[in-house]
Amino acid sequence: MSRDNWNKRTKLIHQGIRRSQYGEVSEALFLTQGFVYGSSDEAEQRFIESGHDEFIYARYGNPTTRMFEDRMADIEGYEDAFACASGMAAVNGALMSLLKAGDHLVSSRALFGSCLYVIEDILQRFGVEITLVDGRDLSAWKEAIRPDTAVVFLESISNPSLEVIDLKAVCDLAHANDAYVVCDNAMATPIFSYAKECGVDLSVYSTTKHVDGQGRCLGGIICGSKELIRGPIETYIKHTGGAMSPFHAWVQLKSLETLDLRVRQQANSCMKIADALIEHPNVEAVKYPTHHAHPQCELARKQSEFAGTVLTVQIKGGKAECFKFIDALEIFTISNNFADAKSIVTHPATTTHARLADDQKAELGIAPNLVRVSIGLEDERDLIADLISSLDQL
Ligand SMILES: *Cc1c(COP(=O)(O)O)cnc(C)c1O
Repeated sequence: MSRDNWNKRTKLIHQGIRRSQYGEVSEALFLTQGFVYGSSDEAEQRFIESGHDEFIYARYGNPTTRMFEDRMADIEGYEDAFACASGMAAVNGALMSLLKAGDHLVSSRALFGSCLYVIEDILQRFGVEITLVDGRDLSAWKEAIRPDTAVVFLESISNPSLEVIDLKAVCDLAHANDAYVVCDNAMATPIFSYAKECGVDLSVYSTTKHVDGQGRCLGGIICGSKELIRGPIETYIKHTGGAMSPFHAWVQLKSLETLDLRVRQQANSCMKIADALIEHPNVEAVKYPTHHAHPQCELARKQSEFAGTVLTVQIKGGKAECFKFIDALEIFTISNNFADAKSIVTHPATTTHARLADDQKAELGIAPNLVRVSIGLEDERDLIADLISSLDQL
């Protein structure tokens, strides 16, 4: 049986491994910036073209980082990948590599705060024309994407509003106009990803989230064709300093071994928790894309089995009631990360999205009564009891 036919859970453990001359079992951490050459001739050759196991400088590539890239590319279904210092280095790198002044970009409006900043502030400052659309509305995409559109950007599931996009339909529209599709797939997770089969050109992750999954280190990755990854993407990132640290690559490479177990467990808990909270008298709405109460459940279920590890709860009331609910929780920690083994609650309106004006928040679905709940690996019965007890106190 060839490696290519392995299932994802097997690939998560074995794919991409490069053993040193010692034959170590566990992936080695090559904590080195540079590499030595046997002669001036060899150095010259290496700079002309580096072979499969030849490296120059860790900003360009490193054996540990390359193992992480190969494994991520393979589980995501792409030919290659470039690992970055953070999710935002990956998003920024993907967009800056593909765009130039005068180009047109179409993006969904409901975006993670920093993604919105890169698009609205940075890209516009460098002369890229931007059109923002409601990602749920296919007719809006159809109207916005034009023959001169160079890139379409979206979050497959938006953070934190959990809007779902018909990825295949948007990719088809983009490709009919020769535009690249860059998909921030952080919320969807590499386990339930459908980016490749829908036609996404560059699938981007903040690996800080589910891949690390234990709140330790930042990371990001861009997966795509060899032509794009070893062409414009590598060229831009290796010269501008967005490369991943070999130490972070090693931590996250080892994390991939347990990714499927963790994410599936967390997603299962999300469904049970959504069921448990939906009827509570102090709850206005509970949303998790593949749960029946989500308005786009049908589309979400058509695209994947589960939809990440985050749900949102809208409390009856406003900011004061949210704060009371959050502060009464005992197991959940208050933080702004998600996808950690530890369950986390966030009040987006006053933290991650605080810089936005009220009308912008309203447009993005960041209501004052919205609480983002990231479900960890604790026993879901304890999480449900904690949430219900806090809700009862309102
Ligand atoms: C967290 C996140 C990012 C940024 O990732 P970092 O690793 O924090 O830089 C980008 N997009 C989405 C959707 C995210 O959730």
